[in-house]
Amino acid sequence: MKNILLVSAEGLPYSKSGGLADVIGSLPVALTKQGMGAAVVLPMYKKTIEQHPELTELCTFHVTSGVINKQAVVYGAKIGEVQYFFIRQDDYFYRDGMYGYADDGERFAFFCKAVLDMLPHIRFKPDIIHCNDWQTGMIPILCKQEYTGEEYKRYKHVYTIHNLLFQGNFPKETLQCFNISDHYYNNGDIRFDNGISFMKAGIIYADKVTTVSQTYAKEILTPEYGERMEGILAQKGDNLVGIVNGIDVENWNPTKDPALYKNYTATDIRNKKACKRSLQYQLGLRVADDVMLIGIVTRLTWQKGMHLILDKLTNIMNQDVQLVILGSGDNYIESELKKIEATYPHRAVFYCGYNEELSHRIYAGCDLFLMPSLFEPCGISQLISMRYGTIPLVRETGGLKDTVKPFNEYDGSGTGFSFRYFKGDEMMFILAYAINVYYYNKPGWRKLIKQAMSVDVSWDNSAREYKALYETL
Ligand code: ADP
Repeated sequence: MKNILLVSAEGLPYSKSGGLADVIGSLPVALTKQGMGAAVVLPMYKKTIEQHPELTELCTFHVTSGVINKQAVVYGAKIGEVQYFFIRQDDYFYRDGMYGYADDGERFAFFCKAVLDMLPHIRFKPDIIHCNDWQTGMIPILCKQEYTGEEYKRYKHVYTIHNLLFQGNFPKETLQCFNISDHYYNNGDIRFDNGISFMKAGIIYADKVTTVSQTYAKEILTPEYGERMEGILAQKGDNLVGIVNGIDVENWNPTKDPALYKNYTATDIRNKKACKRSLQYQLGLRVADDVMLIGIVTRLTWQKGMHLILDKLTNIMNQDVQLVILGSGDNYIESELKKIEATYPHRAVFYCGYNEELSHRIYAGCDLFLMPSLFEPCGISQLISMRYGTIPLVRETGGLKDTVKPFNEYDGSGTGFSFRYFKGDEMMFILAYAINVYYYNKPGWRKLIKQAMSVDVSWDNSAREYKALYETL
């Protein structure tokens, strides 16, 4: 049995800003079901401290890394079979947000070093350290270059890229937060432009690099999607692998989700209509069964195709549809969306912010889920919406391409709608088609709902793939 230590900057049920947290919340559970040992290490943020008084203090030690000389306190918890560890250092993590601070380089340099320093102090003995995204990217190089102990030599490293856009690139001075010599800057291993890159180091020094869908694993080898890392990614050859994400099908379960007005199943979707009416009522939309309700739940960024939506908003609202958008992010996008309620009263609403419960109600209450991403490493939202029988309309990129099967009106197969080129007119063409199916091919639409809800979006298959990957190490 192999023991896997997942290292991440966020993870449910303790912290979340996006899909990474969903993955870290459910992958370890799925790994334990496959007979592996699993533990997770996270930073201990202000919210974690406030919302989880049950965490217990395990040990304290000093972390010295370059100019950093601070105490780390390790807290622990256990949920089911999965062990959780938290690195507490209030100067770095006792803040309202998780990232986006000027000293992020220093904060996560500390985190990487503290995770490695923690290992002799805890009972969990990993075989594999599985790092995720830029915040943990320095762990493999630190482990291999700085630690001489036998157990450190034994660890194997997996590095998963959840989003290549966020690379953890910092000025060269951030090197002062590590005990590694200039050599690794001069030889290019951690150098990116004139600074250092946590992600580049992760890619180079991990034994295996994975990303969260097969299509994204291929896309990132091209200049279009490679974010200037395509060269070093190509060097990984067969050691770069795509494994698609699943979702936590217990948490995301329309048959017993407590956030829903009524629960429903794939074989009896009548209560989905009740969820729709209740959502319309809650949001001040006209309450009606017979109008297509389109939902969007997302970070408001260009990555998610929000400029296509803003460009085509008038065209979208010229159709016989209602629209609900839940999200926060880019100021410009937020301010544009804030106008929609006044322009389209009782037909369009924008809820600005992060709201877990409302997201569940939107996934259940809508007919169509719109996700026209510019790029999408995997995407969780389309998986959730399929599970709730809300038909995804996506752009064929990354995980969206791998997980949504376009509707075929001739044989009735498919689980959603998709378009290829990132163009507003293409999106509108497919949206018009979907609207047409919704209003004029009701048996076809019902079949789509049933098929979408029957897709296995659980972690079972992917956990088996991770297990196979770990075994190769
Ligand atoms: P990303 O990780 O790029 O943001 P994903 O589709 O992989 O995108 O995952 C997004 C996750 O975050 C989903 O679980 C989605 O429901 C959730 N989410 C995004 N924005 C919000 C919001 N404003 N309120 C509630 N949940 C949100």
